Amino acid sequence: AQALPRLDPSSSNAQALNYVEDAADASDHPAYEEGQRCDNCMFYSADNEGCQLFPGKSVEPAGWCQSWVAQS
Ligand code: SF4
Repeated sequence: AQALPRLDPSSSNAQALNYVEDAADASDHPAYEEGQRCDNCMFYSADNEGCQLFPGKSVEPAGWCQSWVAQS
């Protein structure tokens, strides 16, 4: 799989979804529940650490954002 550049957590689109590179840093977010992380989110691609909500970027496997949805 092709390597994608890491999503910059300070970018406006990352901040819009309250993305953090370490899910532990989301513990004060009302939508966050323990155990949620990018690599168990349905929008995550294990092939390239990509996220469907951030096209062309990769995300930290242990990261989190407010659009997290459980894998089905
Ligand atoms: Fe991570 Fe899922 Fe948010 Fe993408 S949508 S940044 S994979 S938690």
